[in-house]
Amino acid sequence: KMAAAKNKIKIVLAQPRGFCAGVERAIDIVERALEKYGAPVYVRHEIVHNKYVVETLRARGAIFVEEIDEIPTGAVTVFSAHGVAKKVEDGALVRELGVIDATCPLVTKVHKEGRRYAEKGYDIVLIGHIGHPEVEGTLGQIPGPVHVISEPEDVAGLQVTDDERVAFVTQTTLSVNDTKDVIAALKTRFPTIIGPDTRDICYATQNRQTAVIAMAKQVDLLLVVGAHNSSNSNRLREIGQNFGIPSYLIENAAMFDPAWLEGVATIGLTAGASAPETLVQETVERIRNYCDVTVELLDGVEENVHFKLPRELADVPRPKD
Ligand code: SF4
Repeated sequence: KMAAAKNKIKIVLAQPRGFCAGVERAIDIVERALEKYGAPVYVRHEIVHNKYVVETLRARGAIFVEEIDEIPTGAVTVFSAHGVAKKVEDGALVRELGVIDATCPLVTKVHKEGRRYAEKGYDIVLIGHIGHPEVEGTLGQIPGPVHVISEPEDVAGLQVTDDERVAFVTQTTLSVNDTKDVIAALKTRFPTIIGPDTRDICYATQNRQTAVIAMAKQVDLLLVVGAHNSSNSNRLREIGQNFGIPSYLIENAAMFDPAWLEGVATIGLTAGASAPETLVQETVERIRNYCDVTVELLDGVEENVHFKLPRELADVPRPKD
């Protein structure tokens, strides 16, 4: 007997997708710290928002904690890519932790901007999502009044010291489009407000969003490989949704539901900045169980960004995978 022919489906892979330079660096830091100092190496918060990455590093001897006081005095400690508040740095000093900072340099840049405005006596509006560790970190790095907002509607309720001395900074992984609307509302209320426009949104976030917007016109279903607590991954899924395409955020191939294939001829597949390419390839393989798949790579920006490692780890050979 002949097996029934499988439906033909095309998978379009977004370009770029997946790991950004900040995530590559953060993972590299934990691996090299394990190599140089031996296990255990403590990591405050998930090094990047991805379970697969966290479990892989845990198996090599990394111990993940949420708070500094869970770490034994003097232990080697890595701060996650999202950055930390000043009080976390101070707490680490008190416990004499050997801190290696994996905060993405593009997050550190936002901390510096914020502090510069604060030194000039500005009230600072931080556009971002309350409760996200990057926002908690940035908030805790800027002395003086900081107001966190995420929607244009939040602008009316802002109470600032002086309407003429207001500045803003943003989270690095926001939607470029939504952020423009918030900034426009801020400029209407505070015509002299200063800030970086959408330039705090990092290159990786911007490029992944641009790629999904380009892809949206030619797909019937969008799959974003990424964690549910990953901000940039959620923003990618929202783009698909805003284009009226069924859009799902999946942590791994097992979360793919074949029922989604109903009536679909072309799938757009991308991955958030903290999702390893392995998980993308496993998703493609899983879909092959149900369909006759052809894979196409979307044209897109080529990224060539690399960040320097902390000096103490620069000469440590990266362990082989
Ligand atoms: Fe850095 Fe952007 Fe990657 Fe976050 S998403 S780690 S800000 S490069």
